[in-house]
Amino acid sequence: MRSLGVFRYSGRALELVWGTSKALTFIMAGLTLIAGLLPGGIAWVGKQLIDAVVAGQISGDSAEALRWLGIEAGLIVAMAASQRGLGVAQSLLRAQLGHRVNVMILHKAQTLDLVHFEDSEFYDKMTRARREASSRPLSLVNRSFGLVQNGISLVTYGALLLQFSGWAVLVLAVAAVPAFVAETKFAGEAFRLFRWRSPETRKQMYLETVLAREDYAKEVKLFGLGGELVRRYRDIFGVLYGEDRDLTLRRGLWGFLLGLLSTVALYGAYAWVAVAAVATRITLGQMTMYLLIFRQGQGAFSAILQAIGGMYEDNLYLSNLYEFLEQEVAPLNGSATQGPDPRDGIRFEDVWFTYPGATEPALRAVTFHLRPGTRLALVGHNGSGKTTLIKVLTRLYTQDRGRILLDGLPLEEWDPAVLRARVGVIFQDFVRYQFTVGENIGMGDVDRVTDQAGIVQAAERGMAAPFIETFPAKYDTQLGRWFKDGRELSIGQWQKVALSRAMMREKADILVLDEPTAAMDAEAEAEIFQRLADLTEDQMAILISHRFSTVRMADHIAVLHQGALVEEGSHESLMEQGGRYAHLFTLQAKGYQ
Ligand code: ADP
Repeated sequence: MRSLGVFRYSGRALELVWGTSKALTFIMAGLTLIAGLLPGGIAWVGKQLIDAVVAGQISGDSAEALRWLGIEAGLIVAMAASQRGLGVAQSLLRAQLGHRVNVMILHKAQTLDLVHFEDSEFYDKMTRARREASSRPLSLVNRSFGLVQNGISLVTYGALLLQFSGWAVLVLAVAAVPAFVAETKFAGEAFRLFRWRSPETRKQMYLETVLAREDYAKEVKLFGLGGELVRRYRDIFGVLYGEDRDLTLRRGLWGFLLGLLSTVALYGAYAWVAVAAVATRITLGQMTMYLLIFRQGQGAFSAILQAIGGMYEDNLYLSNLYEFLEQEVAPLNGSATQGPDPRDGIRFEDVWFTYPGATEPALRAVTFHLRPGTRLALVGHNGSGKTTLIKVLTRLYTQDRGRILLDGLPLEEWDPAVLRARVGVIFQDFVRYQFTVGENIGMGDVDRVTDQAGIVQAAERGMAAPFIETFPAKYDTQLGRWFKDGRELSIGQWQKVALSRAMMREKADILVLDEPTAAMDAEAEAEIFQRLADLTEDQMAILISHRFSTVRMADHIAVLHQGALVEEGSHESLMEQGGRYAHLFTLQAKGYQ
């Protein structure tokens, strides 16, 4: 029953609203009921009024007519009050509901795996869920309530009309069916069109970002990409607009033709009523009431059609939202807080990993052992799997095969929080938070974001302190360009800030630096690596670097090639072997001679 799809999510939207504010939902339901019943009542009172006027013309007494007039005025005031009340309740609910849905989305995002963020379709779901979070759920609720309100009105009109003729009610109801069906059909088509085109919409959004954001502006300007990108943006619009136009035209045409059918039926009934009044089979009051009912009934009817059309879009949003919220996430549910052999360090045993959708494994049978107190350097060409190795070690991904042990215990059995607390990692694409420089460093240990002394100490270890001290606002200097008085740093300075952030994790005994020093001068990188030499007995460090002058200082060097660990050992032993490492080292050393 595709046509029932419009109501599929109404229940859940209502649940959402009910959960947000019971009082407001209750008020809205009550007011909807009142607003639905009143129009029928007003029409009926109008009839009484006219009949009283006609009777008054004969008797000369206007008291009865005035009484009905007073009642009608009262009902009109009640109608205005209930409609205004609905508006107020909706505004209040909109703010609360939007906030609630946004928080639900953000909470869910925290539980997702990295894989999800890299899955374009899923990412798309999340983006869409966020974009309309504050308007769609309430819109669906408003439309559902509107539908109920207009539905109640139609039923009361039908009941009043029944006194005139059951046939008239039947004819009007049947004539309305085609327009209903057409509306649901076209709304369904719009639903599918919209869903299916989301990659194009996403591309458009991406182009907007590239064209309008500060971190892209430099390249876009210098490569003169503006014209080309705007052209692509326009082309996508052209395609989407073409499809939209076709659907809109068909929808408009059919809507008009089928609506005409209802109008013809309506005027037929109209004529019937007029003839009956002329023949005095019904009173003038009754005639006025029926004509009013027809007119208002048609209004209520087209309001219902419009609500259905809009509800499909709201359902589309909610289906997307719930798909996102209900995405299964494999829980990280280990509970161990220590391993059986704390002196064992890290072991990789035949670890394989292939990225979702990739054909070639990014890690193949990687096996190595890193003892506490040692520094490991990972070497290899771009794409050889170095970062991937770090990602599986930090549990951002889970290996497909093999085991990774820490202190003799597989990573899966560790309590994720304990594991995370033990690892300090800086990736090559570390985040440049648009916060103050102090916060940028403090974020390394979320419990100590405001620990000034700790931050200064970490900045000294990460070599950021000297340049931060030269800023007038020192550690309170706002970084980035998004906010007022923001200050941009050089890439090398950003790296030092990121490094200080890693240093903030004092309790971490596994320190991982994935090329965060690439933009620093060789001297700075060497100095940082020297500092790593101050590792305590039970700390471990893993460093990825393309500078062999640094790499050679490591205790242990592992060479990756196409995902496999092909050589390992100390600098001296690897040079002696005369293999890949020796070749690369000699190549770079020559460049400096
Ligand atoms: P390195 O750090 O040594 O430069 P990576 O570990 O980043 O190399 O990449 C190893 C391989 O995995 C490459 O072939 C790369 O194309 C692929 N890869 C890296 N990240 C992803 C990802 N998120 N999704 C799919 N493939 C990836």
